[in-house]
Amino acid sequence: MVTIEEALRIIKDQKINLKSEPKPLEEALGHALATNTVSPFDVPEFDNSAMDGYALCGLYQEYRLVGEVAAGDSKDVSLKDGEAVRIFTGAKVPKNTMAVMMQEKTSVKESTLFLDEMPKAGQNIRRKGGQLTEGQAVFEKGHILNPPSLALMGSLGLSQLEVFSKPLINIITTGNELVKPGDPKSVGQIYESNSYAISGALQQFGFQHHQKTQIKDDFEATKAGIKSALESCDVLIISGGISVGDYDFVKQSLEENGVNELFYKVFQKPGKPLYFGRKDNQFVFALPGNPASSLTCFYVYVLPLLQKLSGYGNYGLPTYQFPIKHAYENRFGRPSFLKAAVVDGKVEVLDGQGSSMIQSMAKGNALAFVNEGEVLNEGDLVKCKLIA
Ligand code: AMP
Ligand code: MG
Repeated sequence: MVTIEEALRIIKDQKINLKSEPKPLEEALGHALATNTVSPFDVPEFDNSAMDGYALCGLYQEYRLVGEVAAGDSKDVSLKDGEAVRIFTGAKVPKNTMAVMMQEKTSVKESTLFLDEMPKAGQNIRRKGGQLTEGQAVFEKGHILNPPSLALMGSLGLSQLEVFSKPLINIITTGNELVKPGDPKSVGQIYESNSYAISGALQQFGFQHHQKTQIKDDFEATKAGIKSALESCDVLIISGGISVGDYDFVKQSLEENGVNELFYKVFQKPGKPLYFGRKDNQFVFALPGNPASSLTCFYVYVLPLLQKLSGYGNYGLPTYQFPIKHAYENRFGRPSFLKAAVVDGKVEVLDGQGSSMIQSMAKGNALAFVNEGEVLNEGDLVKCKLIA
């Protein structure tokens, strides 16, 4: 049995080889960049108007109106003192433009432009290189591509990015009692649900599973199922069969498949019978079958490994502190990740903390960490991971 900190440390300390690949911009979201990026040109590349209005030469309140420049126009316009042109947002400002006046503060009579106020030099002009200059560092290797990063890369004209690959993930669920939702079920059977939580949580963080298999509680079948799953993945996530029951064959089957245990059992609630192992460059998590345990272990332990394997510098869900809405005492005898709801900046520990109780987890949006025996008063700060 290891502590939560030891388990997380073991995951963090794994030596890994990152793989990279080119990805089209459309598919690069959530990937970490595998190279440093510098700007190939100035952004913006030319002085342009920040407003729909008038480009002005000289600073007056009256101008001769001599033409028009729209966004995308490439003609070279040059203004003389006292001249103005109609201009639109994003259009290249004519040579000698001193300011742009927004159209709301202007009026035109015949070909004379009148301004409601004196223009200020440089007003409403987005300068060449105002965001980035040619050769300037844009992103360091390891930067995680969020939507604005994709916009920035696109604006640099980059259609393909070299990114770290995400791991290939297989899922195995175990249990004689499990029936696929939609199929007929007899007495004593239950619907299989953990794989939906796991594949959903994978998608939530930009991952997807490659294969999903359901295995009966049978030693040979478990051994064969694990062998086959390990043929096509970097990370294998198994649900159930890792406890100490007579039908729990996962641990022994992993050993027989050459997987080395890195830890087994974590001093925590829920999710005590959590297993983590490695075979060469493949990793295996065996999650306890109870639905809330399995998903909690995913968020706390599996996700950080997946992100680390994807080249993230910081991995795992961040921890935030929220004041608790009510007094609470952890009487579970183990450090606990409690199903909780953070609403209006306060955290509430929900009813239904059992390891099988997925409904309370489904209604909440956080895991609140409370140490074994810890007594909290209303307003005390609690460490929370937001899961929704
Ligand atoms: P186990 O860890 O295999 O002993 O399973 C613990 C509990 O979780 C049992 O009540 C199982 O029926 C339930 N369970 C195991 N796997 C799943 C699953 N994939 N979906 C829903 N419940 C499960
Ligand atoms: Mg089972």
